[in-house]
Amino acid sequence: MGEKRTVYLDHSATTYVRKEVLDAMVPYFTDHFGNPSSIYHIAGVSRKAIDTARAQVAKALGAGPEEIYFTSGGSESDNWAIKGIASANVKKGNHIITTKIEHHAVLHTCQFLEKNGFAVTYLPVDKYGLVDPAELERAITDKTILISIMYANNEIGTIEPIAELGAIARKHKVPFHTDAVQAIGNVKIDVNTQNIDLLSLSAHKFYGPKGVGVLYIRKGTKIDNLIHGGGQERRRRAGTENIAGIVGCGKAIELATADIEGHNKRIRALRDRLLAGIQAKIPDTHLNGHPEKRLPGNINISFEFIEGESMLLWLDDEGICASTGSACTSGSLEPSHVLLATGLPVEISHGSLRLTLGNVNTDADVDLVLDVLPKVVSRLREMSPLYKGKKGGCNVQ
Ligand SMILES: *Cc1c(COP(=O)(O)O)cnc(C)c1O
Repeated sequence: MGEKRTVYLDHSATTYVRKEVLDAMVPYFTDHFGNPSSIYHIAGVSRKAIDTARAQVAKALGAGPEEIYFTSGGSESDNWAIKGIASANVKKGNHIITTKIEHHAVLHTCQFLEKNGFAVTYLPVDKYGLVDPAELERAITDKTILISIMYANNEIGTIEPIAELGAIARKHKVPFHTDAVQAIGNVKIDVNTQNIDLLSLSAHKFYGPKGVGVLYIRKGTKIDNLIHGGGQERRRRAGTENIAGIVGCGKAIELATADIEGHNKRIRALRDRLLAGIQAKIPDTHLNGHPEKRLPGNINISFEFIEGESMLLWLDDEGICASTGSACTSGSLEPSHVLLATGLPVEISHGSLRLTLGNVNTDADVDLVLDVLPKVVSRLREMSPLYKGKKGGCNVQ
């Protein structure tokens, strides 16, 4: 009897808001609601809260507070970085370099610019999802105005050699943007030692609220505004500030970066036990992404002969929240662009499952998945004509 337990394994899609974060936010909905642009004293409280949050974000990135801009989230930050650099540097050149495995917030922005006279190089990745720094260097021309490469991939968890890629951009004097939405809290980020000029974050991926993000812009970077209007954010991002969200973002990043090693150790231990269990109990699997250079909570694994979508529904029936491909494309049957870029065949990519562990997960969650998943996979395979074919010896792999 009773309600079925929910096992949440989709932390790369979004996270819950930490209690300390929510507690910090609440007064800014009620007591301290003043518009920071106003003159009277209660507005000063809001201004101070934003200053504190800006300092918290700056510290987490090794940046200066004057280089931190609050936005509505990761998508806006990516759009601003790319469109803003493109329009401010159009006289200098029209070439942008990115990769085939970016989030759609980057890919679709680049595709939009392609329709407007820009030329975009989409760098390939190896079978683990890694970008080759030599390949980046070869792609740079005297028309290149921006390089945008994600820090860590949201689907397969692969962590790119950002400092090295940034050094190449720096050497050629091309601004370097990284979408670090998945990386923050999992890897130590320092915009100076890692040669980063622009960096995107989203609070709801690190136990903060939805609808607030950050764009770090290195001082002196030539970039146009994306949102025009009032003089907020030092005249660079108009719109009355989302004060409670900004406060939550600041508190959340402070907590997420306070003990990265400890967090990694705990999440990785759970992840490694889950992965080893899956691989031991289920035959014909393929781990996507890099075996070591990956986010501590990420598992992306393909099960041959089955459909990811059906797997998700069966898992959901057992209270397990997971994902196939990226959240934005599930619901459609398009294979993941990331898995295809790693060279995974279309039919195998359809049977892929992403489990992303985070702060809510426990050993009991791992045990439950290790009990349920093998049954789900074997039931689905029983129904699959391809699998039966294999068992009959007709389908040699
Ligand atoms: C979630 C995500 C985004 C988008 O962030 P939003 O705040 O949801 O707009 C961008 N890039 C990556 C890598 C993400 O995982």
